[in-house]
Amino acid sequence: MPALLERPAHFPCFFTEILCYTVFMYELTVRTKFSAAHNLRGYEGACENLHGHNWRVDVSVRAEGLDGLGMVVDFKKLKAETKKAIAALDHRYLNEVPPFDTVNATAENLARHIHAALSAALAKESIKVSRVAVWESDDASAAYFE
Ligand SMILES: [Zn+2]
Repeated sequence: MPALLERPAHFPCFFTEILCYTVFMYELTVRTKFSAAHNLRGYEGACENLHGHNWRVDVSVRAEGLDGLGMVVDFKKLKAETKKAIAALDHRYLNEVPPFDTVNATAENLARHIHAALSAALAKESIKVSRVAVWESDDASAAYFE
């Protein structure tokens, strides 16, 4: 149980060791961007019209312990996997890209889609994709997490 071994000495365990084991985690976040157009079906307002966003994607992964190098995962690998997960979306009209040919390409649905793609790609790693946040503007984002 590596997390127990790495618990800081100044942070005593007030509960059982099992609870302490689940509390101490590492989390990494990488940020990437893609550009794409969409329009929202069934929406009454400006967003029903074709328009585009420079989407920002923040991906966070968690692990209980570190590898021999002291890393959760190499940032380079996480960035590369994130880019692969969004490659099919970049510079596209999202309404033509499955599953968004039938599901609205909202920030919420994009976040869930990217979370699923990354979770599948990283399934063999000892890390978990904890959160994907998709920003459609500087002040509006939606996140999916498990
Ligand atoms: Zn939009």
